Amino acid sequence: MANETILIVEDEGDILELLRYNLNREGFKVLEATSGEAALDIIRKDAPDLVLLDLMLPKIGGLEVCRRVRGDSDHKSVPIIMLTARGEEADIVAGLELGADDYMTKPFSPRVLLARIRAVLRRHETAIPGDDEVLHIHDLVIHPGRHEVLVAGDPVVLTRTEFQVLHYLARRPGWVFTRYQIVDAVHGDDYAVTERSVDVQVVGLRKKLGDAGKYIETVRGVGYRFSS
Ligand code: CA
Repeated sequence: MANETILIVEDEGDILELLRYNLNREGFKVLEATSGEAALDIIRKDAPDLVLLDLMLPKIGGLEVCRRVRGDSDHKSVPIIMLTARGEEADIVAGLELGADDYMTKPFSPRVLLARIRAVLRRHETAIPGDDEVLHIHDLVIHPGRHEVLVAGDPVVLTRTEFQVLHYLARRPGWVFTRYQIVDAVHGDDYAVTERSVDVQVVGLRKKLGDAGKYIETVRGVGYRFSS
């Protein structure tokens, strides 16, 4: 049974109740806040293990809560899953760039949300591999030190930028990254990498990886993820 503490930040009573019911049933300890101010207080006082954060809150909205938590040196690493309404893609992108770990669009299935919560908690427990660590994922071997990629044992020749994009995504399988985050992490060979050129890099990467190209998934309106 889970015994992690989850803070629900939600001002809509029926959704709060649905979340509380499902989380309690799974054995999670539940804390609740119906405003951004209350959420920040609880995060500082009770240090929950994960925060479910509605974006549309009165006064201090969810994005601002996310920004303040990520800027608070004591609590910046608490996992955050955003709860958003349909049509809030710009907010989802902004939230991911502020460091939210994942998002769910309302209306959502409690079972899917619980799976996401477990996945985020699990990812949080396992440290991110170091820059130089060799990654073995699916049938790929990514060797940062040698700048070498093997697909089912066969070497694939990538440009430096393609390699960096692949390595960046594959280090955190299942995480969604925006184009902006990828641009930020990757340094172009002799030209500036733009958000649009990330798409070009991904097209090239998929082609070179062949069958394994399918592991680089497009998340519509948001960015890319390496399948977990
Ligand atoms: Ca709301």
